Amino acid sequence: MNKIDIDRLGHIVTPAYVVDKRLLMKNLETLDYVQKQTSAKILLALKGFSMYHVFPLIGEYLAGITASSLYEARLGFEEMGKEVHIYAPVFKESEFEEIMTYCEHMVFNSPAQYKQYKERALAKGKECAIRLNPEYSEITTEIYDPCAINSRLGTVASQIKASDLDGLSGLHFHTMCEHNSDTLDRTMKVIEEKFGQYFYQMKWINFGGGHHITRADYDIELLIKVIRHIQTKYDVEVYLEPGEAIALNTGFLVTEVLDIVSYGMDIAIIDASAACHMPDVIEMPYRPEIIGSGKPGEYAHTYRIGGMTCLAGDIVSDYSFEKPLKVGDKLIFTDMAHYTMVKNNTFNGVGLPSIMTMDADTIELVKAFGYNDYKGRLS
Ligand SMILES: *Cc1c(COP(=O)(O)O)cnc(C)c1O
Repeated sequence: MNKIDIDRLGHIVTPAYVVDKRLLMKNLETLDYVQKQTSAKILLALKGFSMYHVFPLIGEYLAGITASSLYEARLGFEEMGKEVHIYAPVFKESEFEEIMTYCEHMVFNSPAQYKQYKERALAKGKECAIRLNPEYSEITTEIYDPCAINSRLGTVASQIKASDLDGLSGLHFHTMCEHNSDTLDRTMKVIEEKFGQYFYQMKWINFGGGHHITRADYDIELLIKVIRHIQTKYDVEVYLEPGEAIALNTGFLVTEVLDIVSYGMDIAIIDASAACHMPDVIEMPYRPEIIGSGKPGEYAHTYRIGGMTCLAGDIVSDYSFEKPLKVGDKLIFTDMAHYTMVKNNTFNGVGLPSIMTMDADTIELVKAFGYNDYKGRLS
């Protein structure tokens, strides 16, 4: 981010998530390149990024959205209005009819779930699929590994009978997380070996999410090669449904230093919270970057950055700065668009950051939150 944009962000009311539309469009151009080179269709996985203010912009490039629940399906249907796919580990009888009003592509987790809803779905012309578990994943963080031992996500080859596939239009797998295309290439070899025989009778194959397509070192040409291989060998359409890749490196969380305390080390307390506003920092866990900072000890002044909740572990991480921090300084966290707004919460009664967009000329407040957003989900 250049100096001018940093100065502009220094003047907004904090805390706020700011999505830079120029960066979002750059990602969308990259994804569209893959679509144009392959005729594969790319969907936005709402689980990762549901900022519907920019759905019209995203819809100019992508084929639609994929949902993991009734509400996500409705949001995608109402706010983008293109293809709406859904996969959920389980569908609830009481929600199924409404889900069918929004979705034309439906992915079931198991042959049993497909069997339960098949007749109604096919009667309405829905294109159905089953999620596969190839028992091969390169994810090392266990809570993100859908192929871990005893996983409930997807169906393994030994549990599929040819008759289970009757009436299906597609097959689906999702086994990646922030991976490059060499992982897809290796995964696909396992999948073809285990399930390739079924591909010939399908209209489409959905490669799931976890493709880090918009990362600088991502090998797009290998992705294109794998897609083309599946398209030509089996005569199927290919879908990809990344969440993170759409919003990767497009958003900032702008915060302010409210106090600095010292106990063993200097600790700056900000008007945001790791636990509430960037929960993946604690859950994943990972260390987000702050513009103008370095690793602890890299510059002269090292601080621990802590959140404003009473949770002792509400710590972002340790950072160093060239100049001492002072109350009122703005700290800009990078890469805060995906898996932030969709996961934040009002624990401790802490308010939600505003949502904003920026481009070359303007910074626009899209939404500010208040007491009612906290009270509204309690009683
Ligand atoms: C989470 C998820 C995605 C999106 O994953 P990203 O890592 O954000 O690209 C896509 N499909 C399914 C089934 C998912 O569970």
